[in-house]
Amino acid sequence: MRTKCDVLVVGAGPAGSSAAFFSKFLDEDDKREVCLIERLDNQKYLNYHEMCGEGVSDDLFSDISHIKPSCIIEKIRKVREYWPGDIEIKTTMNGYIIDRPLFLKGIVDQYVKLGGKYIQNSFVDFIEKEGEIKVKLSDGEFVKTKYLIAADGANSLIRKKLGIKGRVKPFIQNVVDKETKHDTLIFEYDEKWKGDYKWEFPHGETTKVGFPFLKHSDSEKIEGTILATHTRMVGFGGLEIYKAYDLSNRVGWKYGNQM
Ligand SMILES: Cc1cc2nc3c(=O)[nH]c(=O)nc-3n(C[C@H](O)[C@H](O)[C@H](O)COP(=O)(O)OP(=O)(O)OC[C@H]3O[C@@H](n4cnc5c(N)ncnc54)[C@H](O)[C@@H]3O)c2cc1C
Repeated sequence: MRTKCDVLVVGAGPAGSSAAFFSKFLDEDDKREVCLIERLDNQKYLNYHEMCGEGVSDDLFSDISHIKPSCIIEKIRKVREYWPGDIEIKTTMNGYIIDRPLFLKGIVDQYVKLGGKYIQNSFVDFIEKEGEIKVKLSDGEFVKTKYLIAADGANSLIRKKLGIKGRVKPFIQNVVDKETKHDTLIFEYDEKWKGDYKWEFPHGETTKVGFPFLKHSDSEKIEGTILATHTRMVGFGGLEIYKAYDLSNRVGWKYGNQM
């Protein structure tokens, strides 16, 4: 398979699926060839994207107004914050807990309906030659593209290959067999969370309880039976600002002779 496209998006998470969707949605003349590649197949994709609190605010949907809230598990109306010194802050919020894997699949389906191409494969490397980017996939095939969108997550391989630094932190989340207040997000701030917080998000008959991954995990203090534990890196704080990166200086390109 040799594919040529105008825009190649790597990763079908929230960033990649929405980038691919809008690349086609805003292509009124249907002239733009867009390709979305995702390394995980059906069940692995669903498992990966289930590792999330799945909380989103209504404001997000006004920012991306052509993607509507769907696959809603809970409607959120309140936020409770607990701070040291028995301080409780009560605020209101319009938001949702969504079934994130299904929601993302829905965006990808709409993108495909708009004429976008979806390929299940892994990005391995890329090189730029004469204004064209040539991308190598894990099965040894290539895609040629004008634009490459790196939406491959907190540990982005594309970002590493470009030498751009990003900040990441590991978080742990437990799915607990305990029903909590359905319309409320709970946050607990404390020194022990090292500048972050513990969250408790309702999720049907279960609750998702997460916090930063520390050396001495506090899992034993969680009330209820733990049904599943998720650990993943989260990117934060944006990327390092860098100036005019020259791709021709890139070292470590292993596939140069084959391109
Ligand atoms: C425990 C936990 C709870 C969270 N709770 C919330 C929450 O409640 N609300 C919220 O807004 N955020 C939450 N987050 C943060 C949120 O999950 C991330 O900010 C978000 O997933 C980032 O989206 P992304 O598309 O950049 O990356 P990802 O979601 O990581 O998606 C990257 C995609 O790229 C694919 N990929 C990676 N490498 C390759 C490759 N080489 N080739 C092809 N495909 C590749 C992956 O398989 C994946 O599908 C939480 C995170 C964690 C860990």
